[in-house]
Amino acid sequence: MSENREHRGCWRATLPGMEQLDPQACYRALQTRDARFDGRLFVGVTSTGVYCRPVCPARTAMFENCRFFPSAAAAQEAGFRPCLRCRPETAPDLGAWRGTSNTVARGLALIAAGALDGGEADIETLAARLGVGGRQLRRLFQQHLGASPVTVAQTRRVLFAKQLIHDTRMPMTDIAVAAGFGSIRRFNETFKQLFGRPPSALRRKAVLALPVGSVGESGVALRLRYRPPYDWPAMLAFLKARAVDGVERVAGEVYRRTVLQDGSLGLVEVAHLPERESLAVAIRFPSVRALPAIVARIRRVFDLGADVATIGSHLARDPLLAPLVAERPGLRAPGGWDGFELAVRAVLGQQISVEAARQLAGRLVRLCGTPMADAPGADPALAFAFPTAAQVAAADLTPIGMPGARKAALLALAQAALDDPALFEPLGTIEETVARLRAIRGIGEWTAHYIALRAVRETDAFPASDIGLLRGAAGAGDRPSPAALQDRAESWRPWRAYAAQHLWAADAARPSRRESLHG
Ligand SMILES: [Zn+2]
Repeated sequence: MSENREHRGCWRATLPGMEQLDPQACYRALQTRDARFDGRLFVGVTSTGVYCRPVCPARTAMFENCRFFPSAAAAQEAGFRPCLRCRPETAPDLGAWRGTSNTVARGLALIAAGALDGGEADIETLAARLGVGGRQLRRLFQQHLGASPVTVAQTRRVLFAKQLIHDTRMPMTDIAVAAGFGSIRRFNETFKQLFGRPPSALRRKAVLALPVGSVGESGVALRLRYRPPYDWPAMLAFLKARAVDGVERVAGEVYRRTVLQDGSLGLVEVAHLPERESLAVAIRFPSVRALPAIVARIRRVFDLGADVATIGSHLARDPLLAPLVAERPGLRAPGGWDGFELAVRAVLGQQISVEAARQLAGRLVRLCGTPMADAPGADPALAFAFPTAAQVAAADLTPIGMPGARKAALLALAQAALDDPALFEPLGTIEETVARLRAIRGIGEWTAHYIALRAVRETDAFPASDIGLLRGAAGAGDRPSPAALQDRAESWRPWRAYAAQHLWAADAARPSRRESLHG
């Protein structure tokens, strides 16, 4: 979607208080500790120099002393430091889903994965990856977040480090690396400057649970907050139905999977803490440097950043979707753990059932996945990491047993991923993304949109020809044609992916349901 289209304004009106914060309304939210504003509003108190979430238990400051910000980074850019009581780092991170600018959302996703950490990282490179100039990127960030990309990255490092200090017993040197600080000296200086004390002084005596040790030995436990509602049963059922043997497992209420990141192997475990409006995440991985990238993947799979209340109120303006949104207000759009993995699964799933696709993927994993051997926290049921593009490209796929065209498509996909490491990055418009994917042999319109939706995290992807979508949209009446559904979906932009999720759910819930292919 072009910036032009974004600025048409038809959905901007549905996003209250993003660009323009009305101080009186903000102050009312603060006085009532209104949790609905958590993550979308931060208040800086000029008399103390601290910034807070609207739900801070501390006494409300006088109106004259309050300044309001749309992001933690904006408060930090204005010179405020994070509050130690309400802990802005624990607010739901809605950054990537602000909705009004895809460029900003994509930029935030890249920054979250570390694009501006380390020595060589700079704004021009980031802007180029997003297809805009550096100045335009700064302007967009200012407009939507009230802060520069550099401050956003800096704030993310500080808040992530602060969370690790509070919630884990990781050594300070590991935290400095994990949070993306170039050196322990930078880390110490930043914290001294912000808080007037070294990072270790912020550590609480009682921490969450885990014993002393590196990430690899004992794991890091984190809580990742979401903005309610969150339909955990739907998310877990989705993952369970598709869990690839050897790589993923849903046991009881817990999701576990293997991780292959930067050549190292590890495990993650995710459970729900409804009373805390959070997911409990345990990560066992040999290198702390990979933590931000792994956390970003978990956020993506579990769609933690989505503001589904705002999205739902937009979608519910269409009478077709209103009852669906009312029935499943917390429905999320599950993301892919990895772009290549998701694309492989999409190709394997062409024209067969979810269960058949799951079994094919399991065979592929046993054929050419990386054995876990003695990776930290090894689980006999999780014996492989999902194959890389190089492993698939080099494999003889004959034993898997599938049509020659499908095999050729899989090889073409692996080759394309090897040729273009940024193939599944959110670059350009949704149309460009779909065109880029369609250029791969064996990937049609449907598969391209499906990959865009789940792997590239396009909130506006919409595989209009999907049989499950068409059945879901039929309701009690006639099934629409793909063209008619496409037309109707225009008013659901920029969140057609969420509309798709609701239609799939409606189709799956119908008593006469035949199996939907992919929803
Ligand atoms: Zn506070």
